[in-house]
Amino acid sequence: MREYIEKIKDFCKKYGIDIKFENNNEFYFVPSEKRVHFGNKESQYNFSDLYKSYHELCHSTVLMTNRDTKNYAKEEVVADLSAGKILLKLGMLKFKDNPISNNFKEIAKLIWMHISYSGSWATAYIKDNAGFTFNDLKQDVEEEINKVTDILKQELEVC
Ligand SMILES: [Zn+2]
Repeated sequence: MREYIEKIKDFCKKYGIDIKFENNNEFYFVPSEKRVHFGNKESQYNFSDLYKSYHELCHSTVLMTNRDTKNYAKEEVVADLSAGKILLKLGMLKFKDNPISNNFKEIAKLIWMHISYSGSWATAYIKDNAGFTFNDLKQDVEEEINKVTDILKQELEVC
């Protein structure tokens, strides 16, 4: 786990983002202060914390892409699906030979949690836009997800 946290720190250092590790289970990004808050101590980090941290780093890429984040539901879909895509690319959503966890239940629970999180924001986004479909949403967020993951993927890859 430690090497993944070090990669996160390297990423933040490179882009001038401040990190606070706090023991309160709250993960969030403050754009105006260029700071991410991670709600666990480094020494107690688990797989779920890592996913949440990647989610916040995905939000932080707004500093590099200047994307419009006024629509909160859309921004949540972009951040969470981007974080999921990064985990997928890093092999962390596999049940076998997972570099972080060999606990099937833990991985399944994590995948389910984020599917339902993204799904609820996607539903909210579609409801806010009359006539909108999931396909429209996909087109709307796909390019942004690619931009976000392009910025983060190589930086977070642990060799
Ligand atoms: Zn978020």
